[in-house]
Amino acid sequence: MRGFIIGRFQPFHKGHLEVIKKISKEVDEIIIGIGSAQKSHTLENPFTAGERILMITQTLKNYDITYYPIPIKDIEFNSIWVSYVESLTPPFNIVYSGNPLVRVLFEERGYIVKKPEMFNRKEYSGTEIRRRMLNGEKWEHLVPKAVVEVIKEINGVERLKKLSQTDKI
Ligand code: ATP
Ligand code: MG
Repeated sequence: MRGFIIGRFQPFHKGHLEVIKKISKEVDEIIIGIGSAQKSHTLENPFTAGERILMITQTLKNYDITYYPIPIKDIEFNSIWVSYVESLTPPFNIVYSGNPLVRVLFEERGYIVKKPEMFNRKEYSGTEIRRRMLNGEKWEHLVPKAVVEVIKEINGVERLKKLSQTDKI
């Protein structure tokens, strides 16, 4: 059995890790779709697909989980989106998502769609982590250690802060 999960992973955090660990007990292999793969260098999507893949591979090195990270660009064409995803990924049997649009699109195509439970959603949230990075608050404990290292390596916090500056005087 192969499962599919999609996220933007901006950045990959402990909530993502928990859900992937949980799914790995239900399926043999996991396809991890890196959504909005073309986006980077914005406040909502600061990290490139390659940087996000690095966060995931460096973290999952420490776990015995078989997975395939697949970058998936936005196509803004919901009615063919499932076929588009299928054209990029290995075949899969189950979809894990809490996102209503993703759920509807896969269900209409006959997939079993499961809703993963949320872990500490208040803090294990990309939006919250990016907010903390911008405000100089502690964020490191909300992501796996390997992700702290990747974000340091690419000067991620500095990038985010620069992106938030304005060109007005
Ligand atoms: P953002 O605030 O930038 O949208 P996010 O934390 O929602 O970031 P996404 O990359 O949008 O992260 O998440 C993709 C998927 O990962 C979600 O649809 C959800 O299924 C799962 N997920 C996110 N946060 C958690 C969490 N704390 N616990 C369990 N699953 C989570
Ligand atoms: Mg989200």
